Parts: sequence; C-alpha cells; structure tokens
Amino acid sequence: MESTWTATVVEHHRLRHDLAVVRLIGDAVPFEAGQYVDVSIPQNPRLLRRLSPALPPSQDGKLEFHVRTVPGGWISGAIVADTQPGDRWQILDPRGTMTIDDTGRDVVMVAGGTGLAPFRSILLDLARRESPPKVFLFVGDRTPRDLYASDMLVLLLQQLPWLTVVPVVESVYDPEWQDDWYEQIRQNLGSDSIGFREEDLIEGNLADVVSSYGAFVDNQVLVCGSAAMVRATIDSLRATGTPSENITFDPY
Ligand SMILES: Cc1cc2nc3c(=O)[nH]c(=O)nc-3n(C[C@H](O)[C@H](O)[C@H](O)COP(=O)(O)OP(=O)(O)OC[C@H]3O[C@@H](n4cnc5c(N)ncnc54)[C@H](O)[C@@H]3O)c2cc1C
Repeated sequence: MESTWTATVVEHHRLRHDLAVVRLIGDAVPFEAGQYVDVSIPQNPRLLRRLSPALPPSQDGKLEFHVRTVPGGWISGAIVADTQPGDRWQILDPRGTMTIDDTGRDVVMVAGGTGLAPFRSILLDLARRESPPKVFLFVGDRTPRDLYASDMLVLLLQQLPWLTVVPVVESVYDPEWQDDWYEQIRQNLGSDSIGFREEDLIEGNLADVVSSYGAFVDNQVLVCGSAAMVRATIDSLRATGTPSENITFDPY
C-alpha cells in the first residue's frame, strides 16, 4: 500500500522572480539522498509533481525543495508565487536511482538549474561520512544571476575539502532587466556580489564543458536537470569515452 506523509511549510524563500526555496517540517519521509518524491500542494492537490529534496533525510522531518517556474506550469508557478507558511503538503512515493554507490570512486555531479537540489542532499549526506569520496560538481545555468545557490555553494566549498565546484553559464552577462527578488537578497547580504567571482565562471554549454575534462572512466557520474540538458550531457559524455554504466541520471 502506498504511504503518504504530511509536512507543513515553515518558510517560503523567493530567491528569484522564477525560483523559490520551500522549507517544511512534518513526518519523517523515508528516502535516500538523491532520490525524488511526488508532492501534492493545497493550491491544486490532485496534480502530483515530482520534486527532489535538497536536504538529506532527517528524523525530525525537515524537508527542503528548490522550485523554478516552468512557463505556463500549473504547479511550479503556484509553488513559486502562492505558497505560504502553514500550507500543508502531501509527500508520496520516494524513488529514484541517483544515489551514491559504495565503491568509493570519485563522484562527478552535473546539475542544470534546480537539478542541483538532489546533489545538495547528497553532499550534506556525504559530509556526515567518515571518509567521503572526492566530488566534482558542475553546476550550470543561463547567466550568473540564475545560479541561484552560488552563496550556498561557496559556503560548502569552504567547509568540505573533498568538494570542487565548477560553475558554468551560457553567458557571463546578466540580463539587462532588474530582478527585484535578486536585488532584495543582494541588499540583505550587504554585498554587490553574491557567490562566485566572475573569474571563477566558465562560459559555455554545460555538456561541452563537462566533457572537455575527458572521459570519466573511474568515476560515478550523476546527471540531473531538464530532459534536454540531461540528454545533451549524456551524449557528450559517451562521445568522449565515459562508459554508459558509470552514468546515472534523472531528467525533469
Ligand atoms: C525526477 C524529477 C525530479 C524533479 N525535481 C524537481 C525539482 O527539484 N525542482 C523543480 O523545480 N522541478 C523538478 N521537477 C520538474 C517538476 O516535476 C515539474 O515537471 C515542473 O515543476 C513543471 O510542473 P508544472 O505543473 O508547473 O508544469 P505543467 O503544468 O505540468 O506543464 C506546463 C508546460 O510546461 C512543460 N513542462 C513541464 N515540465 C517541464 C520541465 N521540467 N521543463 C520544461 N518544460 C516543462 C509542459 O510540457 C507544459 O507545456 C522534477 C521532475 C522529475 C521528473
């Protein structure tokens, strides 16, 4: 019989015009770091959507999701614009194969957009291990401003000596128009620049940048993001010699 868990929104943090981080507390959901769940929200309870927890499983029932609006999307739009503390969400059916195996091989993670969420969960889970494997995280988005978790990644880099992060943007220039949500965060942090320095960014296509590092023959490679990004990355990895059996992926 399928189980359902309930969690209450305690924080809705709008980071960009099209993106929010939602934190909830409720039942302890039994999932593995890197897996995804089905979610039902009160704004439209019958339309279940898959989301990837961005925290590892916790006994005290903390959950976090990173959600970006899909244009015209029923649920992502409601989560980003209309979700409020007190909303009760139903969580169902944890599953997915994108978990770390126990071979101890170095791990390569390739995240497009909110495809970062399950990797955040895995990184925090690995941080609890005595000897975590080395992790190379490629994180890609359209522009520096779209790298919504840069500040969090910079903090993780300072704390996790086994982690390397390669931020990739299609263009190093932010759009001309102002994103008020982003400006508000910059003001709150009291800094003009949040996250990566411009010189740390690699401009290019995520799939090309990842495969320019050569074949990952002795690594576990995890890929998560939009269906197009995942397909392009896998094709590119295979073309440059990464064995298919080393690659695990979850397309959105
Ligand atoms: C394994 C898995 C994990 C996921 N984890 C996350 C997550 O952590 N955070 C997150 O923000 N999203 C995640 N998604 C995507 C999410 O499940 C929804 O598909 C997305 O939020 C759109 O739902 P919607 O109801 O707003 O759009 P819908 O109303 O279902 O669709 C609106 C329109 O957008 C198109 N569309 C639907 N989904 C996408 C998409 N992903 N990309 C481009 N176009 C699309 C549809 O074809 C349709 O034309 C995940 C998906 C999968 C399969």
